[in-house]
Amino acid sequence: MDDWEAVWPQENPSAEANSQRANRLKVRLDRLLREAAEVAVELSRTDGTIKGVPHYSVIEGQAHELGKQFSREVQQRQMSEVVASQALTAKCPACATRCKLESRKRKVRSVDGDTELQELVGYCPCCRRDFFPSPRSLGL
Ligand SMILES: [Zn+2]
Repeated sequence: MDDWEAVWPQENPSAEANSQRANRLKVRLDRLLREAAEVAVELSRTDGTIKGVPHYSVIEGQAHELGKQFSREVQQRQMSEVVASQALTAKCPACATRCKLESRKRKVRSVDGDTELQELVGYCPCCRRDFFPSPRSLGL
């Protein structure tokens, strides 16, 4: 066994651990989606939004609304992760002054409905205006 072979088993578990974690997360997501579906059905029967034997379009419409709500929640969390992982400064696109960035919430009309997303905004004291940093101004 050479040095590379001796090292490989130690590096491989990291990739394997990631794969195992991804599998656990997929199983958890599937379980949570099934549970959410059960709760949604029970709620619709309890609050009377679905009674007896409804037209299938009513069932489909409510399921689609729940899917859109889930989409907006994922969008919000993904944008929060993006904001949390980015630099705290960026160059002003007009004058290239490096400026401090702040996280702000902004209302956005997504394909799945209105939502509020976090994003980074810079204020340039030289230009006296706000700007939204581009990946290039973040140094990415
Ligand atoms: Zn500027």
